[in-house]
Amino acid sequence: MNNPPVNNPALIELQGIRKRYGGGDSPSIEVLKGVSLRIHAGEFVAIVGASGSGKSTLMNILGCLDRPSAGSYRFAGHDVAALGHDELAWLRREAFGFVFQGYHLIPSASARENVEMPAIYAGTPAPQRAARTQALLERLGLGQRTANRPHQLSGGQQQRVSIARALVNGGHIILADEPTGALDSHSGAQVMALLDELAAEGHVIILITHDRQVAERAERIIEIHDGEIISDRPRRALAAPLARTQLPGTELSTIELARRLSGDHAVPSGAWLGELREAWRGAWRVMWSNRLRTALTLLGIVIGVASVVVMLAVGEGSKRQVMAQMGAFGSNIIYLSGYAPNPRAPQGVVSLDDVAAIATLPQVKKAMPVNGAELTVRYANLDMQAYVGGNNTDFPRILNWPVVQGSYFTAQDEARAATVAVIGDRVRRTLFGAADPIGRYLLIENVPFQVVGVLAAKGASSGDKDADNRIAIPYSAASIRLFGKAEPEYVIIAAAEGGQVQRAGAAIEQLMLQLHRGQHDFELTNNAAMIEAEARTQNTLSLMLGAIAAISLLVGGIGVMNVMLMTVRERTREIGIRVAVGARQRDILRQFLTEASLLSLVGGVTGVILALGVGIGLHLAGVTVAFTAAAAVGAFACALLTGLVFGFMPARQAARLDPVAALASQ
Ligand code: ADP
Ligand code: MG
Repeated sequence: MNNPPVNNPALIELQGIRKRYGGGDSPSIEVLKGVSLRIHAGEFVAIVGASGSGKSTLMNILGCLDRPSAGSYRFAGHDVAALGHDELAWLRREAFGFVFQGYHLIPSASARENVEMPAIYAGTPAPQRAARTQALLERLGLGQRTANRPHQLSGGQQQRVSIARALVNGGHIILADEPTGALDSHSGAQVMALLDELAAEGHVIILITHDRQVAERAERIIEIHDGEIISDRPRRALAAPLARTQLPGTELSTIELARRLSGDHAVPSGAWLGELREAWRGAWRVMWSNRLRTALTLLGIVIGVASVVVMLAVGEGSKRQVMAQMGAFGSNIIYLSGYAPNPRAPQGVVSLDDVAAIATLPQVKKAMPVNGAELTVRYANLDMQAYVGGNNTDFPRILNWPVVQGSYFTAQDEARAATVAVIGDRVRRTLFGAADPIGRYLLIENVPFQVVGVLAAKGASSGDKDADNRIAIPYSAASIRLFGKAEPEYVIIAAAEGGQVQRAGAAIEQLMLQLHRGQHDFELTNNAAMIEAEARTQNTLSLMLGAIAAISLLVGGIGVMNVMLMTVRERTREIGIRVAVGARQRDILRQFLTEASLLSLVGGVTGVILALGVGIGLHLAGVTVAFTAAAAVGAFACALLTGLVFGFMPARQAARLDPVAALASQ
């Protein structure tokens, strides 16, 4: 009887649709037993039947929320079985609008946000979305209730919100499952009047009800009993189902839908921004309403991130300190001294001939012998211990150590073994205080030396050794007057170029072995080696803090995963609703991933704040800390990554939920 015109095929065509539940260990029951049905554009159809007859099952199949076990479903000429996830989501979003007996609004969202949701998934630009939402809510008499949450609305109002939601993307086909079932008679009548209006405007209405009287509003009544259609008749003798005038613009023809269905279902670019914003808002709401749980969950991430930041800050601090020390004397300095190759052997001696030979190496810029020791120094009634080193006039240049008062001793002083001294800053402070030391005589081991210059303060000290606690005197004077030996205690060698220290060291080693007939009775050290040793200590510390960070982040990540799994369980119905209004799997995935990352980002921010606190504490305790942008970025990256990695499993679980089961959950 419903022969369609050739140019307008059936919008919906079911052929032998069966739906079986159970199987496996539970007994299998067939809920739909071969339903065949055609619905055309512009129809207002009621599907009526007793409770349990399979109406909702049929509706879920019609609305592409569920797939039949057998039979074919063609929508606008397209085989629905052949459509992918995204195309089905597109259909739910653009072609269908669901109205449920239980309203199925998202409880944490306002009326406006509930209505807007399908438009967000469709990628409608925000201003358009807001205007359409407002217009629909006003039309349905809810203009004053847009900010109310579902629990602040009556049943009738909630149902009208859900109708507005069904219409926001056009709602060409309204699938209403017992829309008045939970309403009082007045509200029920209002909703029915609304459906009448929509039908008159050209929307296809598929009304599912157990109430014969309600069904009488439709133009065509399909009766279903125990999974089978037992009658299908027009309410009145209508000429044809398509006889009704269709308002232009309000209804898409089957052909137009078919055209769009075969076209591009990509959500317009920029839509993700709206979705992201909505996801953030939603995530924030969920976190805020579970403050304690959130705080406890985040503890691991907070500690993890704080450890990362502190570790980087301490590492950076000590690196800078070492660099400052290195910079104080230059990175190209190598020290050479005698050494006992084994406990019984005498300590090797580096001779001045060795020094002269080393100075000729092309990798060496300068080699300066130092003949020195820690000695008692006296001035007036004051005395102190200081390192007294005999060396030549290269000293200020090699060690990058200028004289700030008076002048350095000269080559002449050196030649005539003059008893002159250039004193370090610490010596000056201890013995002379504020007085001018130039020209005064000090006693070094009872030998008077005249002060001719003061060295600049280095300020760099390693351990308890203070570089400024030093006196430089001519090498000759030291050998003759103080030590009675010509051989140096050690040799300071400047490599030809900063980067050549290792190569120069190797060359010196080779030369020395040759000069000492294969005896390795000398020792070479350099600043780079000292820095390396420092770095090793640093690495141990970093490793420890890194382990704490890793464990905390792991624990934090598991916490996030746990909370996300709980969230998914608690909000299963919400997920079902979102899928029903047209969210794609990836939208759900994105939403829950956003929530997980927001959660861990909040943990990250807290962690950075905690780290700053710890940093201030360490600073007060005398540890050099240096906070860097890299540390902050690293911390955020860690937090975000933790959220993404550990949020992925729950998010995917959410995205893969069966929408029908999700909707039915409490
Ligand atoms: P109606 O909406 O007409 O009241 P339904 O379509 O909801 O009926 O359900 C029809 C029959 O299918 C009922 O007997 C119900 O118990 C059964 N049923 C529905 N969903 C499931 C399911 N997921 N697993 C097993 N049986 C189900
Ligand atoms: Mg039902």
